[in-house]
Amino acid sequence: MTNFPSTSPAEKPGRVVLIGAGPGAADLITVRGARVLREAEVVLYDDLANAELLDLCSATCEKIYVGKRLGSHSATQEHICNLLVNRARAGRYVVRLKGGDPMVFGRAGEELLALSGAGIPFEIVPGVTAASAASASTAIPLTQRGVTSTLVFVTGHPCGGKSQTPVDWRTLAKLQATLCIYMGTQRFVEIARELRAGGLADTTSVAIVAGATLSSQTVRVGTLADGAELLDGLQGRPALILVGEVVRWSELVRAADQFALASCEI
Ligand code: SAH
Repeated sequence: MTNFPSTSPAEKPGRVVLIGAGPGAADLITVRGARVLREAEVVLYDDLANAELLDLCSATCEKIYVGKRLGSHSATQEHICNLLVNRARAGRYVVRLKGGDPMVFGRAGEELLALSGAGIPFEIVPGVTAASAASASTAIPLTQRGVTSTLVFVTGHPCGGKSQTPVDWRTLAKLQATLCIYMGTQRFVEIARELRAGGLADTTSVAIVAGATLSSQTVRVGTLADGAELLDGLQGRPALILVGEVVRWSELVRAADQFALASCEI
C-alpha cells in the first residue's frame, strides 16, 4: 500500500492530460503539449522526458519525479496511478509527461483505466515516438515502396509478465517487415538468433540508434550476425533497434551524399 497526503475531494474535479514529451530533443514536443505543460498545476515526469521541458511549467507548478533515480526501482505503476487520481480529485490540473508517445510502450493503458475508474476526465496529447525519431535522425525510412510495406513496433523486453504471450520472433522474421525494437538492446544477441532461425539472412541490416535526436546520439550499423560488440558503450542508454532492408536502402541515400548524418559512428 502506498501512503499519500490526504486531500479532500474538490467540488470540481480536476483533469489529467497525458502528454508525449517526444523522444529526446526538447523542441520535439508538440505545440499543444507545450501549451498544456505551461498551464499545468501538477506534473508527474520520469527519465525519458527531457528535463528541459519542466522549464515551461509555471513557478507554482508541483513537479513530481516518478522515474528510476528514485532508488533501485522506479515508482510503481500503482503509485503513479494513485498520485494522478489523488491530485485530480483535489481539483488540480495534472499532466503526466511521458517520453516519446504516451500510447507506445508507455503504460498509458493502466493510467487511463485508473482515471476512468475514478471518473476523472482525461485527454491525451500524442508525441513523436522513438521509432520515428530514430528514422528521421538517420535517414532510414521505416517503409519504402518496393522494399517493405510492413512496419512492426515490438518490445524486446518481456514486460508483460507471465500473462503475456512472448514475442514470436521467428514469425516476425517471415513478415519482410521493418522491425522497430524498443527496449531490445539487452537481448539483442538472443533476438538476432531467433530472427535468423525464423529465416532472416545473416546479412540482414541492423541499425541501433541510441539517444535519438539528442546531441549525444550514437548510431551503429551492422547485421544480424553481429554479436554484442555492436552495442559496446551503449549499455544503459535508451536505444532503438531497426532491422530490415530499409537500413541498407538508406545507405544508398548516404552514398549519394544527399543527407548529412549528425554525430554518427557508422
Ligand atoms: N513511449 C516511448 C517508448 C517508451 S519504452 C516512445 O514512444 O518512444 C522505452 C524505450 O524507448 C527505450 O528503451 C528505447 O528502446 C526507446 N527510446 C526512447 N527514447 C529513445 C531515444 N531518444 N532514442 C532511442 N530509443 C529511445
